Amino acid sequence: MNSPGHPQRGRHTPRFDATDGWNPLTLGVLAGVWIAALSNWPLWRALLALPETASLRGALFVLGFGVMIAALLTALLALFAWRFTIKPMIAFLLLAAAFGAHFMGSYGVVIDTTMMTNVLQTDPREVRDLMSWRMLAGVGALAGVPLLLLWRAPLARLRFWPQAGRNLITLIGALLVLALLVFALFADLSATMRNHRSMRYLINPLNSLYALGDLAAQSNAKPAGPPLPIGLDARIAPRAAGARPPMMMVVVGETARADHFALNGYARATNPELRALDVLSFSRVMSCGTSTATSLPCMFSHLGKADYEARGRDHENLLDLVQRAGMAVLWIDNQAGCKGLCARVPNAFARDAVAGAPALPASLCDGEECLDAALLHDLDARIAALPAAARERGVLLVLHQMGSHGPAYAKRSPPERKPFGPECTTNVLQQCDHQALINAYDNSIAYTDHVLAQTIHWLKQQQSGFDTSLLYVSDHGESLGENNLYLHGLPYAVAPVEQKHVPMLLWFGARAADDGQVRVDCLRAQRDVALTHDNLFHSALGVLGITASEYKRPLDALAPCRAP
Ligand SMILES: [Zn+2]
Repeated sequence: MNSPGHPQRGRHTPRFDATDGWNPLTLGVLAGVWIAALSNWPLWRALLALPETASLRGALFVLGFGVMIAALLTALLALFAWRFTIKPMIAFLLLAAAFGAHFMGSYGVVIDTTMMTNVLQTDPREVRDLMSWRMLAGVGALAGVPLLLLWRAPLARLRFWPQAGRNLITLIGALLVLALLVFALFADLSATMRNHRSMRYLINPLNSLYALGDLAAQSNAKPAGPPLPIGLDARIAPRAAGARPPMMMVVVGETARADHFALNGYARATNPELRALDVLSFSRVMSCGTSTATSLPCMFSHLGKADYEARGRDHENLLDLVQRAGMAVLWIDNQAGCKGLCARVPNAFARDAVAGAPALPASLCDGEECLDAALLHDLDARIAALPAAARERGVLLVLHQMGSHGPAYAKRSPPERKPFGPECTTNVLQQCDHQALINAYDNSIAYTDHVLAQTIHWLKQQQSGFDTSLLYVSDHGESLGENNLYLHGLPYAVAPVEQKHVPMLLWFGARAADDGQVRVDCLRAQRDVALTHDNLFHSALGVLGITASEYKRPLDALAPCRAP
């Protein structure tokens, strides 16, 4: 393994001469075996739990799969097996694999392009929520220990051509081993990957490398330049004489599950305040994605899920169209931002101070994070700052909640609003008592109930000037330990229904109902109709009374119940 000796070099010779350092290739092979065997424990745990691996044949398949991963990593590292590149490359792979193993093993998530997007778009507060001693221990064991050994390992001095030859032979050898194993295990391999599609996203750290490459390819594929405009023919439809301009509040929920809303039949009283208001709950609404980054742009797009995912160019969204039609638009965010949706319309973070308004009380904002009631705190002042002429034509407000964002569910409700106890207060969800975890989550839903009720009370105060309405819909759901899965963000095709079935609520002020614009009894009969995020764009245009060539009446959930 060591390169042939060099001539003696006098007093500047380092402590190790050519014969007693490590060859970079040896380190590469050892790192490949370490990562394949140990850093892939979530994959081995998942594979060994499958009924098809219970036999001897299955065990041999799992072993062969491990050798395949080691061979692939060895082939990759053979390309970098040079004095100055091997250690950084091994360090990168060790760290990527260790973090990947922690999140996959702890939360049952997998690492695909969507998850990588979430990781790259996340903000420091969310990272803090995910940090734990358990993570430090896991990453320390899987990456810290080998990194320490790697750091201390002296490297041999190499001559270029012999090392190039060794690297090439190792690369070819590793690829041959891989090819032979794929051939020998093809039947089991293809069946396992077909029947358990999420397994491929567990292969560590190749999943992260693949996702990063895919994201880079996507951003290269996307043409530069601003998004394509929509609603160039958008107009405000003529209103009946005496009718007020519309004020529509869209509340984008976060991580709320439809089946934890009492309005949808959940056994616990998670909706005590909304129950007392005349709120409609649609019981069968599916999300566009399983994460904020995928759902949010899709919800506000005119394209719908299928066309949105297949789009070649980015388009403007509902907010741009409503503004173009002449109405006032405002996005207020209490989370990680609007993912570019509000870039061309007035927007603010809930924690942003408003000039001349009293500061947010410490009970709402702790300096880093705000409870969702902060969204309402300066609403009047923020709306007063919008152009008056546009306000007179109509107003679209979007509140982007913190909602039930995990894993620190207990932080999503204030101490005085926790009907369910005791609460899980750690972010290591699988260590929590299951009922305590549900309690913390349900408290966040009950708090959302309170915030939405407050929002409706605020809207009622606007009724003298506006026809008011509220539409609440969550961006995606959440796994709370079903099948050992936690959080959200699994690829849509394999994600469980808990991550995709979302609550959607509708409320109309007295005027909108009285004017006969919508027949509420008719809507009530529609509550079990199957809907998706695809309906949001078109339903909102319907409520606001805006016509545009992008509007599709069949996707307007309210159209069947609107006066012609
Ligand atoms: Zn989300």
